[in-house]
Amino acid sequence: MATQPEYRGRFAPSPTGPLHMGSLLTAVASYLDARASSGTWLLRIEDIDPPREVPGAGDSILRSLEAHGLYWDETELYQSTRLEAYAEALDGLTECGEVFRCCCTRATLGPGGNCLKRCSPAPEDVTALRVSLLGNVGFDDKILGPQAPGLSANDLVLRRKDGLYAYALAVVVDDAWQSITDVVRGEDLLSQTFSQLELLAQLKAAQPSYAHVPIVCDASGVKLSKQAGATAIDDKAALANLRKALELLYQDSAQLPAGSTQELLELATSLWNPRALKAAKALVYP
Ligand code: GLU
Repeated sequence: MATQPEYRGRFAPSPTGPLHMGSLLTAVASYLDARASSGTWLLRIEDIDPPREVPGAGDSILRSLEAHGLYWDETELYQSTRLEAYAEALDGLTECGEVFRCCCTRATLGPGGNCLKRCSPAPEDVTALRVSLLGNVGFDDKILGPQAPGLSANDLVLRRKDGLYAYALAVVVDDAWQSITDVVRGEDLLSQTFSQLELLAQLKAAQPSYAHVPIVCDASGVKLSKQAGATAIDDKAALANLRKALELLYQDSAQLPAGSTQELLELATSLWNPRALKAAKALVYP
């Protein structure tokens, strides 16, 4: 009988700002899921989009994770060191897949942001590289349950017009390279999972299982995000922050007495119950 591969999870923030309660919650959920399975938990800094990045944000994320006792295994991976691997993967997909050049602007793209190969770029035109996907892949989310096939866009950008590799390509190349078996991340990325599974299949890579945790919104229903200027978490209040994250994650451990982040994380690991999130709507903070 085939043995299950050892659990390997990851937290993969983009360094577009410091950790806020929403990203801390994702980090905690993926950490607990990995530790509860006696698995490996990796940290990957997704720094492939310099125009969106904030200087120093990567380091500040590392420091915040450590202040909260969220220690990762192995050396952290910076996607900016992986550009050759993305180029190689793109070459492979071009050889065997449906990669095509696209010079569309926002105004000329069709419904759903699709190009449908209607533009005919001249050889000298600056183009994006896209891949045509079928949208025939569904999956069973560990929190949300079965997800019927559905793509937000069939013509997925793999390399942007400005020459930068797209998140969609980098994330699957690295999930495959790092042998990630379990992805736990925010529900805002749920719609991306369909295309990522299809791309993984095109790359002939193993498919991880996915669990999407509800996103954290402020009282007016706006998703906490670095772009929207969400307040950075205060590393000096690490224990209280962890408790709040556990409370938002509907974990019984949030109420238990603990004198340190380490103690609380150990309790939270032993009581980790992702199914408690199944019925959760958007989580509200503060
Ligand atoms: N880097 C992405 C973000 O910060 C997350 C990627 C992922 O978990 O797949 O939103």
